[in-house]
This record gives sequence, C-alpha cells and structure tokens, in this order.
Amino acid sequence: MHTVTLIKGDGIGPDIMDAAVAIIDASGATIHWEEAEAGLGAYERHGDALPEATLASFAKNRVAFKGPLTTPVGKGFRSINVALRQQYDLYANVRPAKSWRGVTSRYDDVDIVVVRENTEGLYAGLEHYLTPKKDIAESLAVITRQGSERIVEFAFRYARENQRQKVTVCHKANILKYTSGLFLDVAREVAARYPDIAFDEKIIDATCMHMVMNPAQFDVVVTTNMFGDILSDLTAGLVGGLGLLPGANIGTDAALFEAVHGSAPDIADKNIANPTAVIMAGVMMLQYLGEHTAAQRIERAIAQVIAEGRYVTPDLNPQSTTGTREMAEAIIAALR
Ligand code: NAD
Repeated sequence: MHTVTLIKGDGIGPDIMDAAVAIIDASGATIHWEEAEAGLGAYERHGDALPEATLASFAKNRVAFKGPLTTPVGKGFRSINVALRQQYDLYANVRPAKSWRGVTSRYDDVDIVVVRENTEGLYAGLEHYLTPKKDIAESLAVITRQGSERIVEFAFRYARENQRQKVTVCHKANILKYTSGLFLDVAREVAARYPDIAFDEKIIDATCMHMVMNPAQFDVVVTTNMFGDILSDLTAGLVGGLGLLPGANIGTDAALFEAVHGSAPDIADKNIANPTAVIMAGVMMLQYLGEHTAAQRIERAIAQVIAEGRYVTPDLNPQSTTGTREMAEAIIAALR
C-alpha cells in the first residue's frame, strides 16, 4: 500500500482528479489517498495557498498527485506549483507527448519527451522593480553548473532506460551567452559520457520551427525552465491539445505528478474537461511506484476509449456529448 498526497486543485481540478482517482482505484493499484489542500481555493478558505498540513503530508509521503492550481496573473501570491517544485527540489519535469490513435491532429507519429529543468532559470523567483515608480522591472535567470549537469544527466539516463535514441539540447546561447552558454557547455560535456545516445543541439527559436514542420526528428529534448514550459505546450498542440499531456516532477527523494495544463477556468464546473492528462500523470506515478501492471491496464484502456472516439470529451470529438465523468466510466469499463 502506497500513501499518496492528493491535491484536487482549482477550476477543473476536482472533476478531473475524481475521474483519475476512480480509474486508479479500479486498476488494481493499492493506493491510500491522503487528501490535502492548495491553491486559490485553499487561499480563499484558509488565507493560505499552501497550508502547513499539505506541506507536512507531502514531506511524509514524498509522492503527490496534484490537480491544477490557479495562480493570480501579475499580482497576488507566488505560484504554488513553482514553490512546491523548488521546496522539494523536484528538479526534473518530464512531459511526454505522443500521438494517440483516434485523435485528429497535424501528425500521427509524434513521440517527444520534453525534460525541463524545474528549479532554476527565469523561474527562480528573483524579480523586482528597480524604481519607486515601478516603471522598470527586472527578472534574474539563475543557471548553475550543478543544476544543468543533473538535468542533462537525467535526460540521458531517461533516454537509456526508455530505449530512446537521441537527446536534443535546446538553448539560446547565441544571445544569452552566460546563462544559456553555461547550460550548453555542460550539456556537451554530459553528452560525451553517453556515446550510445545521439546528441543534437538547437537554438530554441529554430527548435520551435523544426518541431512544427518535422516533429519526427525529435526524441528526448532537454532544456531550461521557461523554454521547457513553452515547448511542452507546443508539443501538446502537435498531439491534439493540452487535455492530453501529463507531467512528472521528479527529485532525488520526492515526486509530484500532474497534468501540463492549468485549471482552465473557462471550462470549470461544466463536466467537459478531458481527464486524459491527469490520468496519464497517474500512470506515470504508478510506474514510479512500481505498479507496472496497473499502469499498463490504464494506458491500454484509455488508448481503446480514445481510438473508439465515442466516449471522449468534446475537445477530442466536437460532436461528443460525453462529459468528464462519463469518459472516466468508459475507461473503467475498458480496464482488462
Ligand atoms: P490552461 O492550461 O488552464 O488552459 C488553456 C486552454 O486549454 C483553455 O482554453 C482550456 O479550456 C484548455 N484546457 C486546459 N486543460 C484542458 C482539459 N483538461 N480539457 C480540455 N481543455 C483544456 O491555461 P491558462 O488558462 O493559461 O491558465 C489557467 C490557470 O491555471 C492560471 O491561473 C495558471 O497560472 C494556472 N496553471 C496552473 C498549472 C499547474 O497547476 N501546474 C499549469 C498551467 C497553468
């Protein structure tokens, strides 16, 4: 029995997390869920977007399954997602995007894993105004040799363990000669230690163009925090949208699993959010916990439901009247 901290989150969070938990419970995995609060809802209820009890639960269990959290834009409390990743040093953000049979999208052969550095770069939280009038603002990007080395090492290890052929490092070292330059230098050093895995390097803007025109040339992509955040939304767009992309935040002794997408306030409380991204995040969590049989059963069942195209949410089939709950029921019925 694994005890997992369960944070349902804001917006569409409770709907999609209830769906994912029901499927994981039906899959044969033995998970004890310890529910905890975080995000805008927690802030409104308790005046604290990341209550002590939630931190204590995650600190004890070291594994969390989390719905999306709303972060006020341009004001208010700091992102709880970023705070959790930094506090527990969840330095590797793994975001796999693959084509699904039955989903209409631009390509049918995409299989790209973005490995994003999760604790440094422009998301280090070093932002301030330089003048009392607040008409000049500054953000500092922090890149360290140690942080770069462990994320690129992670990407190469991931490639080796998952029978991947190539790692591409994405950077902007032509302009950001110190920060991106350091990341690229370290990536080249690490790559030399993995002669069995092909290595490629691309400037981030060119990466975006190449990825849209010919995504099959990418396999594992490793990059700094903000580039990885943006690039993984691009890969989501290539395979059919944000409703499909899971993410794992992995540290040396803790891990947090979530969807790539946010709380989608535009579709909250409508029972139309696609639960696939968080269910697949649940599959990544089960693999991390060694529950491989349950993980495979769920992945097969989702693939079947999506390929049939009948019981899927409207983002995958605009004619569909299937809701989040009904899609989850269809996946449970397809578990074998
Ligand atoms: P979003 O990802 O919530 O939504 C972007 C678009 O994708 C919306 O049109 C939405 O309806 C659609 N979408 C997202 N998830 C979907 C799903 N499961 N099924 C169908 N459609 C889906 O991004 P946003 O609107 O820019 O952000 C909303 C809030 O979420 C913000 O407060 C942001 O800070 C937060 N956010 C949180 C996380 C996280 O918790 N890890 C990640 C990203 C954004």
